[in-house]
Amino acid sequence: MDWARQIHIKNAAEIALMREAGRVNALALAAVRELLQPGVTTADLNAAAEEVLRKHGAVSPFKGYPGPYPYPASITVSINEELVHGIPSEKRRLREGDIVSVDCGTLLDGFVADSAFTAGVGEISPLAKRLLEVTEGALRAGIEQMRPGNRTGDVSAAIQQYVESHGFHVTREYTGHGVGRQMHEGPQVPNYGTPGRGILLRPGMTIALEPMVLVGTPKTRVLADRWTVASADGSLTAHFEHTVAVTEGGPLVLTLP
Ligand code: MG
Ligand code: MG
Repeated sequence: MDWARQIHIKNAAEIALMREAGRVNALALAAVRELLQPGVTTADLNAAAEEVLRKHGAVSPFKGYPGPYPYPASITVSINEELVHGIPSEKRRLREGDIVSVDCGTLLDGFVADSAFTAGVGEISPLAKRLLEVTEGALRAGIEQMRPGNRTGDVSAAIQQYVESHGFHVTREYTGHGVGRQMHEGPQVPNYGTPGRGILLRPGMTIALEPMVLVGTPKTRVLADRWTVASADGSLTAHFEHTVAVTEGGPLVLTLP
């Protein structure tokens, strides 16, 4: 992938702009989270996020993103066995016990922020609860490694070890990535790896870390809509993501409210 070779170091002013994009992104995700109830459609979730972006003069870098066909919405909504890239629809209603992964990007003043969470609708199963805790824990473990002098392999390995030590699986097919003026820049940060390997982390790197975790096996398949990625075995999946800057002072999460 060509984008993976382009690493752009950001100065303090650029990181501040990304922080603002990240703040708006967090507000959009919060608006979606508030709506997670049985009967709500995934198109409703998309509309709520779009309204927040519009209010702040931002747009989604997802809309029109090149793929099998230009991506048609501002967020992705992936339910239960769907891991990432689910397309919002007026026909798809949330149900009690679902777990819903919502990924949102914000393009504001020339910079992109990218973040995702998974949450339950009403009461969810103990397995689903554990999956959400482990996936969010894996993101925290990855963020902790985002320090100057570490390598991308340290981040990847921390995510993989956390997930696998809890008996779940990480995808091999989709990865974290640098983010900045473009939604996808270098370096690529897989959710598996070897400590001490990969790209050296330097202050000013901004990376979207995004553990994608599957209960059954690491394998995925793409559904008939040609965007939605689901677990190959139909088992539950979860996805958490933050955009994080490497700074002299340690990791700085840019996608918080
Ligand atoms: Mg994302
Ligand atoms: Mg991403």
